[in-house]
Amino acid sequence: MQSFDAIVIGAGVIGSSVAYHLARLGAQKVLVLDRLQIGSGTSTQSSGILRTHYSVIENVELAKRSWSVFNDFAGYLGDEEMSAGLVKCGYLICSPDGPKLAPLRAALEGQRSMGIEVQLIDAAAAREMLPIAHFDDAALIGYEPEAGFADAYLVATGFARAARRLGVKIMEGVNVERLLMDGGRVVGVETSQGTFLSPTVISTQNIWAGDIERWTGVPTPVKAERHAVLALEGPEAYSFKMPVFKDLGSPGMLYCRSYGGNQMLVSEGTVGETLAQPDNEQGDISMDYVVEVGAQVAERFPSFGEAGLASSWTGVYDVTPDWNPVLGRLPDVPGLIVGYGFSGHGFKLSPGVGRVLAQEALGLPTDVSLAPYAHERFRSGHLLSGKYGLGAVS
Ligand SMILES: Cc1cc2nc3c(=O)[nH]c(=O)nc-3n(C[C@H](O)[C@H](O)[C@H](O)COP(=O)(O)OP(=O)(O)OC[C@H]3O[C@@H](n4cnc5c(N)ncnc54)[C@H](O)[C@@H]3O)c2cc1C
Repeated sequence: MQSFDAIVIGAGVIGSSVAYHLARLGAQKVLVLDRLQIGSGTSTQSSGILRTHYSVIENVELAKRSWSVFNDFAGYLGDEEMSAGLVKCGYLICSPDGPKLAPLRAALEGQRSMGIEVQLIDAAAAREMLPIAHFDDAALIGYEPEAGFADAYLVATGFARAARRLGVKIMEGVNVERLLMDGGRVVGVETSQGTFLSPTVISTQNIWAGDIERWTGVPTPVKAERHAVLALEGPEAYSFKMPVFKDLGSPGMLYCRSYGGNQMLVSEGTVGETLAQPDNEQGDISMDYVVEVGAQVAERFPSFGEAGLASSWTGVYDVTPDWNPVLGRLPDVPGLIVGYGFSGHGFKLSPGVGRVLAQEALGLPTDVSLAPYAHERFRSGHLLSGKYGLGAVS
């Protein structure tokens, strides 16, 4: 039986980042196990948007630390061949008068208080950046220049490749079947390919985190929620130079970005379809739904009234009751550390989260306190609820 300093379950953007940071922080023997392949979970379904805009201030700090990694991915990993596929186009967010206005103002102030550049702009300036949209109803528009989108598959495989270079062993096609316990603490995992020993196991299983409940009896407050993403082709291009756009005035709190330099990627930022079982297979997208989202898009982007559907896909979020992740140790299970429940916004946090989970696993001080993200919050009622209501802005 092989022994390791730490075992990571799952090789999505979070697990790959944890593995890389474990090695970078000095762990000698690290094993990553994924039942399928690196990035084959929900990460590859991601829209890839990167921003530090959050109404939950703790997330701003994690996103800010993560942005500095995305902004120089090759430099951070010490490998000039690496790319996160970053398109640094900025992030525009606007709200009309109404319930989203005060949360937007507070969130923009919160970002500024954390030293992040945020500009308050008028409708004319917004139209210059995004000339295919109108802003007639906007009561407040914020612009974050250091933002954009990137490619989650490149990031997961980039962290994995960098981890391997530092000596991490990554095994694909290995299903973890249970945690091994001895004397009340974790001592390893039993898998489809045998037993691996370690006093530290880090679970980054996303929608499959319910395994933890089956293995330990500790409730996993996460459900699998399917969301649809559409790529629309309109008469006017949504170019790479145009910012990511968040429309707090639309019923679906739409987010949009350039897709391929010409089309628009669009999705709703509200609650999706809860699945009975965790499953990231493609789901159906009805024509009624396409028409409904298309109508919201046309409200903001008039020429998209004539847009066609170029492609579409579904992806699954691991949603917790407050739409924020659970990070850190499970006190009832010594040796187990978890990172799940990213609720549709984990990509932009993945470098920072990987680093703090690795620090926690190695007994080092963490860059940010994990206390607000503790599993315990669902028992104590100190939830990390965002001010925009349920949805992935958080
Ligand atoms: C449609 C969609 C759009 C999104 N858009 C954005 C966005 O714009 N910006 C943003 O920041 N975030 C976004 N997200 C969220 C972000 O993509 C996720 O939070 C992030 O990718 C999750 O990474 P992960 O590593 O936790 O999960 P996954 O990539 O799902 O990785 C989990 C891995 O664990 C493995 N695994 C599970 N159980 C076991 C087991 N028992 N044994 C072995 N392996 C196991 C799985 O095979 C899988 O590879 C979006 C998500 C979706 C679905």
